[in-house]
Amino acid sequence: MSDDADSYSRRMALAPARTALSIAQRQFDAAADALGLEDSLRSVLRELKRELVVHFPVEMDDGSFRVFTGFRVQHNIARGPAKGGLRFHPALTLDDVRALAMYMTWKSAVVELPFGGAKGGVICDPKQLSLTELERMTRRFTTEISLIVGPDRDIPAPDLGTGPQVMAWIMDTLSMHAGYSVPAAVTGKPTAIGGSEGRSGATGRGLSTVTVQAMRDRGLDPSDATVAVQGFGKVGCVTAELLAASGMRVVAVSDTSGGCYRGDGLDLVALRTLKEEGGHIEDYGAADRISNDELLRLDVDVLVPAAVEGQITGANAAGVRAHVIAEGANAPVDPEADAILNDRGALVLPDILANAGGVVVSYFEWVQDLQAYFWAAGEVNARLKEVMMRSYHQVHARAEQDAVPLRDAAYRIAVQKVAEATEVRGIYP
Ligand code: NAD
Repeated sequence: MSDDADSYSRRMALAPARTALSIAQRQFDAAADALGLEDSLRSVLRELKRELVVHFPVEMDDGSFRVFTGFRVQHNIARGPAKGGLRFHPALTLDDVRALAMYMTWKSAVVELPFGGAKGGVICDPKQLSLTELERMTRRFTTEISLIVGPDRDIPAPDLGTGPQVMAWIMDTLSMHAGYSVPAAVTGKPTAIGGSEGRSGATGRGLSTVTVQAMRDRGLDPSDATVAVQGFGKVGCVTAELLAASGMRVVAVSDTSGGCYRGDGLDLVALRTLKEEGGHIEDYGAADRISNDELLRLDVDVLVPAAVEGQITGANAAGVRAHVIAEGANAPVDPEADAILNDRGALVLPDILANAGGVVVSYFEWVQDLQAYFWAAGEVNARLKEVMMRSYHQVHARAEQDAVPLRDAAYRIAVQKVAEATEVRGIYP
């Protein structure tokens, strides 16, 4: 490892205990240092631009009222409207949302989309709400954040705990307020109301594209590789299927209930059906049961953390044996773990590049909605592949040029783009 990468790793490893935002800011700081950004520009980019916190009542099915708390945070809009997902999760915090909004800014920049970064969500467990409660909660939350969202201001999308139905309610609520249909106000919608072909599988498709290419560049044969996937949801399931389709053997998957392992490969069709019918991975009988912790430590070629943040840390990274760690989730590997994995020579495909396929096809969806002209699935997938391959090659080349890991390279490219946009626009007034 070069001095440059080593000093980054050391700074990260020696830093005091942190929050999600402070991790995101220190990752930014490392890139800002490497780029020699001046202090004034640095102080603009490391802060959040706009934060909206809302507390709002919702009538529950039994006639009682419950007050929910939600957030919409925009990190930076120098390169275009803010863009980022909405998360419905019981453990959501404002700090998480701030960090995730910042990641979205870098993600859009690294794949060259004309967007800034945002994130939002509601503190709730959607599984504990009835469909009607979920709809009322979503519509009221949408009304609360309608102050700052819209097709040319800030465009939400699905994330943990949300999906096409929630996006449809958001689109409908914003359209009712406007008095006409505004499909471009949100992405990840059903195709019946302006959603894009290929959006639901886009993150997994982009992730598998980058993973296969990175393996080839490392001299690893994809057709002879084993894979473990943590989090068998929208991202993990599609990634598992597409890596299997490219010849790899998916030997383990998991969800919150735990994981399952089968050395000669899992039946992914049966597992998808189980999940679609509301079952849990622990209910799957045709494999050995393992814990999430065991899954992370399996002796596999590729590990795909596709669940939540902070899964691979300084405490367990030494036990991770995979050669390639493909970040489906945002920030699943913390900076201490990053340093340990880099020292061992593992290849970490960083989230802001590796899981950008979702926002790429969200961008395509927004463009199609604005033009009211829709593309076939083949065209969407071909354009997605083109963007992911181009971005991967740019990051890979920068990593070679600067002799740093891919994450540092991706950050340097992204921060440089946002810094340029901020600088050329100037500070108003
Ligand atoms: P999802 O809700 O569809 O699936 C998440 C899966 O992870 C579920 O199977 C859940 O049971 C499992 N899970 C949750 N916590 C877990 C834990 N602690 N251990 C093991 N499994 C756990 O969500 P998703 O859309 O697939 O998103 C997964 C991750 O990918 C999130 O971090 C999200 O921010 C990120 N991401 C999603 C997209 C997208 O397009 N959906 C795009 C980029 C990044």
